[in-house]
Amino acid sequence: MSDLQPLIDDLLAGRRAAIGRCITLVESQADAHQELAMELLDAIAPHTGKALRIGLTGVPGVGKSTFIEAFGLHLIEQGHRVAVLAVDPSSSRTGGSILGDKTRMERLSRRPEAFIRPTPAGRTLGGVAAHCREAMLVLEAAGYDVVIVETVGVGQSEWAVSQMTDVFVLLLLAGAGDELQGIKRGIMELADVLLVNKADGDNKKPAQRAVQTLRSALKMLHGTAQDVPVVRPVSALDGTGVAEAWNLVRDHYQGWVDSGELAQRRAAQLEQAMWESVDEQLRRHAIQVGRGALYAQVVRSGERQPRAAATALVRSLLAEDSAGLRANSAAQA
Ligand code: GDP
Repeated sequence: MSDLQPLIDDLLAGRRAAIGRCITLVESQADAHQELAMELLDAIAPHTGKALRIGLTGVPGVGKSTFIEAFGLHLIEQGHRVAVLAVDPSSSRTGGSILGDKTRMERLSRRPEAFIRPTPAGRTLGGVAAHCREAMLVLEAAGYDVVIVETVGVGQSEWAVSQMTDVFVLLLLAGAGDELQGIKRGIMELADVLLVNKADGDNKKPAQRAVQTLRSALKMLHGTAQDVPVVRPVSALDGTGVAEAWNLVRDHYQGWVDSGELAQRRAAQLEQAMWESVDEQLRRHAIQVGRGALYAQVVRSGERQPRAAATALVRSLLAEDSAGLRANSAAQA
């Protein structure tokens, strides 16, 4: 095998330095790393897929990092190893990251059974999501059996995260007037478990009322369907409901394992990841050969409509590729 083998051995042994290096490799955009990254992902594939993958979202300030810390520490007490990844495409727009700015989850990050990795800045959502999925595989190979993928509940990233996880958890607040309006219906529909956080002190009663409101709203949303999401109050601060939240997540997961739904869902996710990679690679290629900027300008100036420009661009890439292939086979003949 290649020079990667020692790194892979270290990764499988759970060595932190190797985990960091492997994640850096799969995240790398350098051309020279693409083949190596694929080789790494192929080599570790047999050691992946055994973790429970949790997606977690909520607006800034809802208590995500406080909750993940309490939840993660609880899991470690139960004998699990916990990895936390963040998907935060906001960083590419503002240059600053909503998730990464403050010191987050300090107690959890000090635990040897935990691994916390912020999102790399300056990527498109598609790029962030793909690399996050691959980082998750690296962490599974390193022996983490619960992976939490965190996202800020402000945009489209929730969909991307639901496409790489098994159970989706939505954190909410009571009394913010946002039980129904602020949270996009689409995000509500993705959630398997809804937790109304900060159910402590004076906020305990409003949180319980919010739980009731959400339950009736979800019943209407889901009709008589079996899979109505569960709603519970929690306090990430004092720990109330955190153990129960874990039991709910685990029971959801186990139910899908037993029914075979998990296997089906993960297979569909793999296919989806391939198509996203096709999109991403086409785009990268167009930019690399210098044509991306050209066509972008044509569209920006209004000279051509986006669809027509995209069609012309893809056709020109494909034509070039088949010309290349013909040249290759002629050379071999
Ligand atoms: P994030 O932006 O979603 O990651 O939110 P943070 O975890 O940083 O929490 C935002 C603020 O809410 C912090 O000041 C936390 O201490 C506070 N907070 C988080 N969870 C709770 C909770 O369960 N109860 C109360 N009272 N405050 C909380």
